[in-house]
Amino acid sequence: MTKGIQWPRIYIYYQEQTIMADRMTRLQRHLCMSHIRSKDTKPEVAVRKGLFAAGFRYRLNVSALPGTPDIVLKKYNTAIFVNGCFWHGHSGCRHFVMPQTNRQFWQDKIERNIRRDAAVKTRLEALGWKVIVLWECELNTSARRKVTMGRLLASLKDNEAEYCAEQGRRKVLKALRRRENDEKKMRKGALEAEIHNRYDIPRKIVLDSENPALTDLCDF
Ligand SMILES: [Zn+2]
Repeated sequence: MTKGIQWPRIYIYYQEQTIMADRMTRLQRHLCMSHIRSKDTKPEVAVRKGLFAAGFRYRLNVSALPGTPDIVLKKYNTAIFVNGCFWHGHSGCRHFVMPQTNRQFWQDKIERNIRRDAAVKTRLEALGWKVIVLWECELNTSARRKVTMGRLLASLKDNEAEYCAEQGRRKVLKALRRRENDEKKMRKGALEAEIHNRYDIPRKIVLDSENPALTDLCDF
Protein backbone atom coordinates (compact mmCIF):
# COMPACT_ATOMS: atom_id res chain seq x y z
CA MET A 1 0.00 0.00 0.00
CA THR A 2 1.40 3.41 -0.90
CA LYS A 3 1.41 6.49 1.28
CA GLY A 4 -0.99 8.24 -1.09
CA ILE A 5 -3.76 5.76 -0.26
CA GLN A 6 -3.10 5.78 3.49
CA TRP A 7 -3.16 9.54 3.91
CA PRO A 8 -6.89 10.30 3.35
CA ARG A 9 -7.94 7.56 5.80
CA ILE A 10 -5.71 8.92 8.53
CA TYR A 11 -6.92 12.41 7.74
CA ILE A 12 -10.62 11.43 8.01
CA TYR A 13 -9.93 9.66 11.31
CA TYR A 14 -8.10 12.74 12.60
CA GLN A 15 -10.98 15.00 11.55
CA GLU A 16 -13.52 12.79 13.38
CA GLN A 17 -11.40 12.84 16.53
CA THR A 18 -11.08 16.61 16.36
CA ILE A 19 -14.83 17.14 16.01
CA MET A 20 -15.59 14.74 18.85
CA ALA A 21 -13.06 16.40 21.15
CA ASP A 22 -14.35 19.93 20.47
CA ARG A 23 -16.22 21.17 23.55
CA MET A 24 -16.97 24.60 22.17
CA THR A 25 -20.29 25.54 20.59
CA ARG A 26 -20.27 26.44 16.92
CA LEU A 27 -20.28 30.17 17.78
CA GLN A 28 -17.43 29.84 20.24
CA ARG A 29 -15.38 27.83 17.78
CA HIS A 30 -16.12 30.35 15.02
CA LEU A 31 -15.06 33.30 17.18
CA CYS A 32 -12.01 31.49 18.43
CA MET A 33 -10.79 30.40 15.04
CA SER A 34 -11.59 33.65 13.26
CA HIS A 35 -9.67 35.75 15.75
CA ILE A 36 -6.61 33.62 16.23
CA ARG A 37 -3.55 35.71 15.61
CA SER A 38 -1.55 34.42 12.70
CA LYS A 39 1.26 35.45 10.43
CA ASP A 40 0.58 37.30 7.19
CA THR A 41 -2.78 38.77 8.20
CA LYS A 42 -4.38 41.13 5.69
CA PRO A 43 -3.64 44.35 7.62
CA GLU A 44 -0.07 43.22 8.24
CA VAL A 45 0.49 42.55 4.54
CA ALA A 46 -0.94 46.01 3.75
CA VAL A 47 1.57 47.64 6.12
CA ARG A 48 4.46 45.68 4.65
CA LYS A 49 3.49 46.61 1.11
CA GLY A 50 3.17 50.27 2.07
CA LEU A 51 6.57 50.26 3.77
CA PHE A 52 8.24 48.47 0.87
CA ALA A 53 6.73 50.87 -1.66
CA ALA A 54 8.05 53.80 0.39
CA GLY A 55 11.55 52.30 0.21
CA PHE A 56 11.77 50.82 3.71
CA ARG A 57 13.36 47.43 4.26
CA TYR A 58 12.54 45.30 7.26
CA ARG A 59 12.59 41.90 8.93
CA LEU A 60 9.44 39.94 9.76
CA ASN A 61 8.38 38.08 12.92
CA VAL A 62 11.68 38.60 14.71
CA SER A 63 11.62 35.93 17.41
CA ALA A 64 14.93 37.12 18.89
CA LEU A 65 13.09 40.17 20.30
CA PRO A 66 10.48 40.13 23.10
CA GLY A 67 6.96 39.49 21.79
CA THR A 68 8.22 38.52 18.29
CA PRO A 69 7.41 41.87 16.62
CA ASP A 70 5.61 41.56 13.27
CA ILE A 71 7.89 44.04 11.48
CA VAL A 72 11.31 45.24 12.62
CA LEU A 73 13.26 48.13 11.07
CA LYS A 74 16.69 48.13 12.67
CA LYS A 75 17.92 51.30 10.98
CA TYR A 76 14.88 53.09 12.37
CA ASN A 77 15.23 51.40 15.75
CA THR A 78 11.57 50.44 15.51
CA ALA A 79 9.45 47.36 16.21
CA ILE A 80 5.92 47.35 14.76
CA PHE A 81 3.00 45.25 15.93
CA VAL A 82 -0.11 44.98 13.77
CA ASN A 83 -2.80 44.01 16.27
CA GLY A 84 -6.25 42.53 15.74
CA CYS A 85 -8.77 44.73 17.60
CA PHE A 86 -10.64 41.86 19.26
CA TRP A 87 -7.73 39.66 20.20
CA HIS A 88 -5.65 42.49 21.68
CA GLY A 89 -8.60 44.36 23.23
CA HIS A 90 -8.52 47.65 21.31
CA SER A 91 -10.00 50.04 23.86
CA GLY A 92 -13.02 52.02 22.60
CA CYS A 93 -13.03 50.24 19.24
CA ARG A 94 -16.28 49.02 17.72
CA HIS A 95 -14.54 45.84 16.58
CA PHE A 96 -13.82 44.93 20.17
CA VAL A 97 -17.13 43.58 21.47
CA MET A 98 -17.07 40.97 24.21
CA PRO A 99 -19.04 37.83 23.17
CA GLN A 100 -22.22 37.22 25.18
CA THR A 101 -21.51 33.52 25.67
CA ASN A 102 -18.66 32.48 27.89
CA ARG A 103 -18.10 36.14 28.75
CA GLN A 104 -15.77 35.54 31.70
CA PHE A 105 -13.56 33.24 29.65
CA TRP A 106 -13.13 35.85 26.91
CA GLN A 107 -12.67 38.68 29.36
CA ASP A 108 -9.88 36.84 31.19
CA LYS A 109 -8.23 35.85 27.95
CA ILE A 110 -8.24 39.32 26.42
CA GLU A 111 -7.10 40.93 29.67
CA ARG A 112 -4.19 38.50 29.73
CA ASN A 113 -3.31 39.51 26.16
CA ILE A 114 -3.46 43.22 27.05
CA ARG A 115 -1.17 42.67 30.05
CA ARG A 116 1.25 40.64 27.93
CA ASP A 117 1.31 43.33 25.19
CA ALA A 118 2.11 45.99 27.80
CA ALA A 119 4.91 43.87 29.29
CA VAL A 120 6.40 43.23 25.84
CA LYS A 121 6.36 46.99 25.08
CA THR A 122 8.15 47.73 28.37
CA ARG A 123 10.80 45.09 27.68
CA LEU A 124 11.43 46.32 24.14
CA GLU A 125 11.69 49.94 25.29
CA ALA A 126 14.14 48.88 28.00
CA LEU A 127 16.29 47.43 25.19
CA GLY A 128 16.18 50.79 23.40
CA TRP A 129 13.51 50.00 20.78
CA LYS A 130 10.70 52.29 19.72
CA VAL A 131 7.42 50.40 19.65
CA ILE A 132 4.60 51.24 17.25
CA VAL A 133 1.23 49.48 17.52
CA LEU A 134 -1.08 49.59 14.52
CA TRP A 135 -4.66 48.40 14.87
CA GLU A 136 -6.62 46.37 12.35
CA CYS A 137 -9.40 49.02 12.33
CA GLU A 138 -6.88 51.69 11.27
CA LEU A 139 -6.08 49.70 8.16
CA ASN A 140 -9.36 48.22 6.98
CA THR A 141 -10.29 50.81 4.33
CA SER A 142 -8.02 52.43 1.79
CA ALA A 143 -8.72 55.90 3.21
CA ARG A 144 -7.80 54.81 6.76
CA ARG A 145 -4.80 52.91 5.47
CA LYS A 146 -3.53 56.06 3.79
CA VAL A 147 -3.81 58.11 6.98
CA THR A 148 -2.26 55.36 9.12
CA MET A 149 0.63 54.78 6.74
CA GLY A 150 1.30 58.53 6.57
CA ARG A 151 1.48 58.65 10.36
CA LEU A 152 3.69 55.55 10.45
CA LEU A 153 6.18 56.92 7.91
CA ALA A 154 6.41 60.21 9.85
CA SER A 155 7.10 58.30 13.10
CA LEU A 156 9.78 56.25 11.38
CA LYS A 157 11.53 59.39 10.13
CA ASP A 158 11.52 60.78 13.70
CA ASN A 159 12.88 57.53 15.07
CA GLU A 160 15.62 57.49 12.42
CA ALA A 161 16.67 61.04 13.28
CA GLU A 162 16.83 60.12 16.96
CA TYR A 163 18.75 56.92 16.20
CA CYS A 164 21.30 58.78 14.06
CA ALA A 165 21.72 61.46 16.73
CA GLU A 166 22.34 58.75 19.34
CA GLN A 167 24.85 56.97 17.07
CA GLY A 168 26.56 60.33 16.43
CA ARG A 169 26.79 61.02 20.18
CA ARG A 170 28.34 57.59 20.72
CA LYS A 171 30.89 58.19 17.95
CA VAL A 172 31.95 61.54 19.44
CA LEU A 173 32.29 60.00 22.91
CA LYS A 174 34.37 57.14 21.50
CA ALA A 175 36.71 59.58 19.69
CA LEU A 176 37.10 61.66 22.88
CA ARG A 177 37.95 58.56 24.91
CA ARG A 178 40.50 57.48 22.28
CA ARG A 179 42.13 60.91 22.33
CA GLU A 180 42.31 60.88 26.14
CA ASN A 181 43.99 57.45 26.06
CA ASP A 182 46.50 58.64 23.42
CA GLU A 183 47.35 61.70 25.52
CA LYS A 184 47.76 59.55 28.60
CA LYS A 185 50.17 57.25 26.72
CA MET A 186 52.15 60.23 25.43
CA ARG A 187 52.42 61.73 28.92
CA LYS A 188 53.53 58.38 30.30
CA GLY A 189 56.15 57.98 27.53
CA ALA A 190 57.47 61.51 28.08
CA LEU A 191 57.69 60.97 31.83
CA GLU A 192 59.55 57.69 31.39
CA ALA A 193 61.99 59.25 28.92
CA GLU A 194 62.60 62.11 31.37
CA ILE A 195 63.29 59.66 34.23
CA HIS A 196 65.69 57.67 32.03
CA ASN A 197 67.54 60.85 31.08
CA ARG A 198 67.88 62.06 34.65
CA TYR A 199 68.71 58.86 36.46
CA ASP A 200 70.73 55.82 35.64
CA ILE A 201 68.10 53.14 36.20
CA PRO A 202 69.25 49.50 36.46
CA ARG A 203 67.97 47.26 33.64
CA LYS A 204 65.93 45.08 36.05
CA ILE A 205 63.83 48.06 37.15
CA VAL A 206 63.27 49.09 33.51
CA LEU A 207 62.02 45.58 32.71
CA ASP A 208 59.82 45.54 35.80
CA SER A 209 58.29 48.86 34.77
CA GLU A 210 57.15 47.20 31.55
CA ASN A 211 55.40 44.45 33.47
CA PRO A 212 51.65 45.18 33.20
CA ALA A 213 51.02 43.81 36.69
CA LEU A 214 53.42 46.40 38.11
CA THR A 215 52.51 49.30 35.83
CA ASP A 216 48.92 49.00 37.02
CA LEU A 217 50.17 50.00 40.46
CA CYS A 218 51.11 53.49 39.33
CA ASP A 219 48.61 55.46 37.30
CA PHE A 220 50.26 58.16 35.22
ZN1 LIG B 1 -9.80 48.81 16.55
